[in-house]
Amino acid sequence: MVLDELSLAEQILKNQKLDDDHEGYDLSILAKYYIYQGNDYKKTTKLIEEFCIKNIKYFNIITRRSLIDYAINSAKKYKLGIPIDIIITHQEISIIQTVPNIDYQRFLFTLLVMGKQQKYNSTKTKFKNSAKFIGIYYNGGAKEIIKHAGLRYNENFKNKMMNDLYKLEFLDMVMGKETIVIKFASEGHPALVVNNFDNIGLYYLKYIGNNKIGECQNCHSLFMKRSNRQILCKECSEINEKESAKIRAAEHYEKHKNSTV
Ligand SMILES: [Zn+2]
Repeated sequence: MVLDELSLAEQILKNQKLDDDHEGYDLSILAKYYIYQGNDYKKTTKLIEEFCIKNIKYFNIITRRSLIDYAINSAKKYKLGIPIDIIITHQEISIIQTVPNIDYQRFLFTLLVMGKQQKYNSTKTKFKNSAKFIGIYYNGGAKEIIKHAGLRYNENFKNKMMNDLYKLEFLDMVMGKETIVIKFASEGHPALVVNNFDNIGLYYLKYIGNNKIGECQNCHSLFMKRSNRQILCKECSEINEKESAKIRAAEHYEKHKNSTV
C-alpha cells in the first residue's frame, strides 16, 4: 500500500512509464489523479487511453479494454490517497513504552500511525453503514507495518511478535489475521505529529532520543545517520552530489578553455 499516491502519480507522469509488474495498479493511481484534478470519468478514460497508447509498447485499446476499465472502476470506488498529519498522544507513547522490546515498540508506534491514517483519511468514495469496528484498526497486514517501521521482515519474528503483543492485549487479530485491531489508542495531549510515512519507525526513535536519527536540512525527512556530520538524507545527498559534479565539470571546462586561448 502506498500512502502518498499524489507523489506516485506525479512520478508516473514525469517518467511517462508504468511499472511492468503493476501496470493495472499504476493506471488506477493515474485515473484517481485525473479525477482529483477535476476531470470527469469520460475525460479521465480518454486521458488513460492516451497514456497507454503512448507509453505501453504495442498497446491494443480493444484487446486490453479490461486494463482501462479496471483503472476507471477503482477511481470510482476510491479517491487519490494523500496523507494527512497524524497526531500521537503522550498517553499512547507511555503505553507503547511499557513493552520491554524496542522493535516491538517501533512496530506498535507504526501500527498506530497507519491505523489512524486509515481511519481518519479514508479514500472510499462510498461509505457503508455497517462499520464492523468502532475503534482503530489496520487491515493491510503486519508485513506492511514491519516495512514502514523500518524493521527487517522475517516470518518467525512476525509470528512471535504478533503472538506476544496479542497476549499482552495490545491488539486483536481478525479475519485471517490480516486485520489488526489496535487496543492501545488513547485520547490525550499530542506528543508528536507524523507527516512523512516512508519510515515511520524513525519518528519513534527520534522521539525517544536516539541520536542516530537526523533530519534532512533540505527536505526535512528523517534518516538514519551514517556519520555525525551527515546533514542530508540519502536522496538529497545524491542529488546534491550530482549538482556538485556538474559544477565541477563546468569549472574545469572554463579553466581549460581559458588556459588554451
Ligand atoms: Zn532530503
